[in-house]
Amino acid sequence: MPSAPTERRLILLGATGSIGRSTLDVVRHLNASARHRFRVVGMAAGRNASELAAVASEFRCDAVALAGEGPAEWPTPAPSERFHGPDAALELVERVARPGDLVMAAMVGFAGLAPTLRAIEKGCTIALANKETLVAAGSLVNEALARHRTRLIPVDSEHSAITQCLQDAGARAIRRIVLTASGGPFRTWPIERMRSAPPEEALRHPTWSMGAKNTIDSATMMNKALEVIEAHWLFGLPAERIEAIIHPQSIVHGFVEFDDCSVLAQLSPPDMRLPIQYALTWPERVEGRTAALDFDALRSLVFEPVDGERFPAIELAHRVVRDGGSSGAIFNAANEEAVAAYLRREIPFGSISTLVRAALDSLPAEPVRTFEQVSAADAASRAFVRERARDRTTEGATAWRR
Ligand code: NDP
Repeated sequence: MPSAPTERRLILLGATGSIGRSTLDVVRHLNASARHRFRVVGMAAGRNASELAAVASEFRCDAVALAGEGPAEWPTPAPSERFHGPDAALELVERVARPGDLVMAAMVGFAGLAPTLRAIEKGCTIALANKETLVAAGSLVNEALARHRTRLIPVDSEHSAITQCLQDAGARAIRRIVLTASGGPFRTWPIERMRSAPPEEALRHPTWSMGAKNTIDSATMMNKALEVIEAHWLFGLPAERIEAIIHPQSIVHGFVEFDDCSVLAQLSPPDMRLPIQYALTWPERVEGRTAALDFDALRSLVFEPVDGERFPAIELAHRVVRDGGSSGAIFNAANEEAVAAYLRREIPFGSISTLVRAALDSLPAEPVRTFEQVSAADAASRAFVRERARDRTTEGATAWRR
């Protein structure tokens, strides 16, 4: 017999982003259908004060956090607790989170790590979209999950796919997992043209609609590299058993091959609301917003190996998994800084992976046991890339600019 509907407390970090908006769309749908109900008790955002104010009012959310300034006026009902400044999301978690709450970690970048770790320490369940959290501090996150006896459900479509495939299989029977990648907008471009592509082209993703950083990460395949490292921490597999394959249609999200050579895959149209809803209603499945799969589309599915010359990111990810320690934080921070410099048109597209490799070559991978150690590795890597990017800008390498 189905159990009675419950109302679960939800804290949404990154409410104004692509994942945040889709999460609120899923919550609207679930609350209307009454099987799984959510009360959004806290929301955090960066600078988009007007959108945060609007959704906080719609969801009657009592506590909000903004890294930037608040709006000129809060629509009624206004949240009674408001936090501001760079640590606002952390303060929100500190003040509002309770054991058993669900926290959707959908802020972008390293900024998402501290509030997510604090939510784990407070006994919350984590729906994790922010892959940078596991890349930079996978060992800390896993230790905290074990110590506080709570769990993390991946939201990334590929890791959700693997989780769905693994439901009734022991993790030890896995031979390898294969994460699919769209290949981004430059999959078929001549490599030289790709290396000098401007941000407008890199931001034109063929299948997924995402925030700017994630879209650039898809064009370099750093996104898949981050996911390879994320998969290592989620599924406990070594580098050689985590592969990536290009699948431009983004319909198959991941494969698991078992010891008996049986392969399971998860398929659905490219719509993040499906893995978001799965994380929210886990382990149940309920009707959602995503359209049903059109089986005619399966006739033209294509799978291609990743070209390592075009996309060196995957090889770098395998190296990070092997090196361990602070190499994840170095890799992640170098990539965040290089993407920001590219979006400011300070470096060409091709320099993003060159700078990430240079950071890994130059900064030693040290063991990490504390957040402060991760943070120090992050800061050192950012400083390294900023300096190198500045050198490149002053070298006069501006031919690629528009
Ligand atoms: P967006 O850039 O669209 O959104 C990022 C969100 O983070 C915004 O709400 C932004 O607020 C908020 N934010 C940024 N800095 C801070 C801060 N210091 N404090 C509080 N909030 C902050 O990113 P996406 O939604 O695309 O991605 C979010 C995360 O999910 C990323 O880690 C990404 O890798 C991952 N992911 C995304 C997928 C996708 O399809 N988009 C798929 C799988 C994973 P504001 O806009 O107000 O400044």
